[in-house]
Amino acid sequence: MNNRIRVTGLIAAGLLVAALTAPTAPTAPAAHAGERGHPSGPGHPGKHPGGQPGKQAVAVGHGGAVSTVDADATAAGLEVLRRGGNATDAAVAAAAALGVTEPYSAGIGGGGYFVHYDAPTGRVGTIDGRETAPAAFARDSFVDPATGEPYPFSPERVTSGVAVGVPGTAATWERALDRWGSISLRAALEPGTRLAQRGFVVDETFRSQTLDNAERFAAFTSTSEQFLPDGDAPAVGTRFRQRDLAATYRLLARRGADALYTGALAEDVVDAVTDPPTTAETDLPVPPGAMTTEDLADYRTVDRKPTRIRYRGYDVYGMAPSSSGGTTVGEALNILEQSDPSAMGEADVLHHYLEASALAFADRGAYVGDPAYVDVPTAELLSDRFAAERACLIDPDTAQPKPVPPGDVTDVDGACGDTGEARSWEDNGLSTTHLTTADRWGNVVSYTLTIEQTGGSGIVVPGRGFLLNNELTDFSATWSAEDPNSPEAGKRPRSSMAPTILLQHGRPFLALGSPGGSTIITTVLQMLVNRIDLDMPIDAALAAPRASQRNTAAVTSEPAFIDAWEDTLAVYGHTLVPAGDAFTSAAEIGAATAIEFGRGGKLTAVAEPERRGGGAAGVVQPRRHHW
Ligand code: GLU
Repeated sequence: MNNRIRVTGLIAAGLLVAALTAPTAPTAPAAHAGERGHPSGPGHPGKHPGGQPGKQAVAVGHGGAVSTVDADATAAGLEVLRRGGNATDAAVAAAAALGVTEPYSAGIGGGGYFVHYDAPTGRVGTIDGRETAPAAFARDSFVDPATGEPYPFSPERVTSGVAVGVPGTAATWERALDRWGSISLRAALEPGTRLAQRGFVVDETFRSQTLDNAERFAAFTSTSEQFLPDGDAPAVGTRFRQRDLAATYRLLARRGADALYTGALAEDVVDAVTDPPTTAETDLPVPPGAMTTEDLADYRTVDRKPTRIRYRGYDVYGMAPSSSGGTTVGEALNILEQSDPSAMGEADVLHHYLEASALAFADRGAYVGDPAYVDVPTAELLSDRFAAERACLIDPDTAQPKPVPPGDVTDVDGACGDTGEARSWEDNGLSTTHLTTADRWGNVVSYTLTIEQTGGSGIVVPGRGFLLNNELTDFSATWSAEDPNSPEAGKRPRSSMAPTILLQHGRPFLALGSPGGSTIITTVLQMLVNRIDLDMPIDAALAAPRASQRNTAAVTSEPAFIDAWEDTLAVYGHTLVPAGDAFTSAAEIGAATAIEFGRGGKLTAVAEPERRGGGAAGVVQPRRHHW
């Protein structure tokens, strides 16, 4: 009980800290690339006196680029590029560094989706490294045997062993390096191992994320030892070391990804899932999972064909199911392509964006799940005829009542229409992390990875230094034959991750992505609308305030979006409500990253100026002059 009171106090303190320091979303588009000064100078992150790299939101130059949410991770990717590594090498190195500095969003306890443009062949390839339900996971695993009702989302499903999927990230790194990399996993893990061993300097974001999670972290012996040393979140400005994680990375360096999927580490993962290391004092329920060492040994990534659509002269490549990112972003763009933004004002463009997004989300809910279990009609969802059927439901002056029903993919005849029951599937989240890399040879990576919730399941594998995911919370809570995302043994829960690469005339134009649960889809979509339809420079397209319409009655919006658009969009019938949920103190949507490709090899790497404390963009050779 004492423990609980102390932790509640910590949370209150954390909220206060966060309120005092909360990043505010920008109210106006940011300056154009290159117009913003920075103490580190243009192009590379530089160093701050405390030893951690400085950070900037925009970097312009040549020879390769990296953009992540974190200065240390961007520095890790740039280090690999400077030593002659390629975009895949840099992406894996940056991701491994994020596993250290952003351990609540990403790491080897989670999964993700890796999208790659291969300059020599001009092909886009993808790796599905999504977590997978264990073989003993049942259709009713989220149903409490005591009540016959689904466990409440929080705390039971969120902080549990039962929601832990078999992790895919270490296998993704190995597969990506095998397919496209030029260095070993050992070499790619080096910068991350160093960061874990020597420590990184704690910033406000890390401290406030720790405090947001303090109650559930305190429920586990391993997690509280690691992230709440002396009963408090590490102080801002102190160096935070993770020696267990460094040792785990060294083990992976020696034995390859197999070290996670077989042997003693696999056994430790299984123990943590099936018998979570709860403290004697906690009163959190923490339902255990049923993962086995066979589940880990059987885990495989999947090489998938990307989704592809044409949008106003660009080829847009995205992640195919098991993520709904590629189909939903693609369908919404196809719907939007039926209208002409040059004939509209900005409010009309935003109205169409919100309406197209709601329609695409209705179809996502009805049709998209793990293709190993569900016959996903990807071609129909991405067809222009289907888009025409959906687009004609948009009234240019008036928002449709939400939720809207899905379309009928079994009868795509181009006639205006919808069918079936209107349902909304809202899920939130600010966790996850997206990184974007490019190399001097023209290869590009867009990679989104996650452990689901900020802090995942809350369970650190004892002695191993990393958090396990709670990705199976992305399934629906109960099974139904109509729901493509029903829980099932061996299945991958439907994701919203949307790592995206755009080509123009066969050459890279833009690579981008975002965290944020199902708002990932709307963030990627809105950034593309900003860049292509509203002709904003890429840094402004990324920084502009966001709104997310996921087929719900009201539009989840950042405060700055509400300030700017509430009255105008009310005329169409849109109601805007502030973003934010019970798990986080930030009212922001999606800390995104992007790289845009210009003429003559010019690279513009862009990260957030403010969201999640600001990200870090860097290039190998910063430009010396204005273009
Ligand atoms: N689990 C989410 C997904 O795969 C990502 C989690 C988040 O971004 O909060 O779509």
